[in-house]
Amino acid sequence: MRIGVLALQGAFAEHIAVLKHLEVDTLPVRLPHQMVGLDGLIIPGGESTTMTGLMLSYNLRSEISRRVEEGMPVLGTCAGMILLAREVADNRVEPVAAMAMRVRRNAFGRQRESFEADLSIPVLGEKPFPGVFIRAPIIEEVDNGVEVLARLPNGAGPRAAEPGIVAARQGNLLACAFHPELTDDLRFHQYFLDIVTGKC
Ligand code: GLN
Repeated sequence: MRIGVLALQGAFAEHIAVLKHLEVDTLPVRLPHQMVGLDGLIIPGGESTTMTGLMLSYNLRSEISRRVEEGMPVLGTCAGMILLAREVADNRVEPVAAMAMRVRRNAFGRQRESFEADLSIPVLGEKPFPGVFIRAPIIEEVDNGVEVLARLPNGAGPRAAEPGIVAARQGNLLACAFHPELTDDLRFHQYFLDIVTGKC
């Protein structure tokens, strides 16, 4: 198994370190031809507007879309989640538009720009998962076919009547608003690898 990590900008080195820890063959991806032979891809956190520009300059957006259509598993974390969404309320972002959900950037106001929350993520087991949120987005709404994996502890988002969704899955696509690569809990990455190997 070989997993690529999009290495244009942002927290790619941390994802590579986690994958190495899990003894997975890993490749930093900066150009489309590096996607050949990958079994999965991680799009890291960073700045989704900057990453949009770089993905377009290097023809990576179309290559990622093509591979997603072929069924390649992708994990998007934070900015990576924004780039996987079908709808983003910011036209400086041109997402891959793979997951049927609407995402809002920088959803938490200044006071809560960064915070940690213990999340209940039933697919990972009973033990809470340490969610590290850094200028995080939120999933405002999901469409049919998108499974909600986690919500904020109070079950509500920063805006009234918002469901507080922070992790979701659609087939081989997995997204979270937080940074699992910044904790030493490897379960979220392991869950992604289980998707890649078809175990779940
Ligand atoms: N605020 C960033 C964005 O909108 C995401 C932050 C992150 O990835 N930690 O792209």
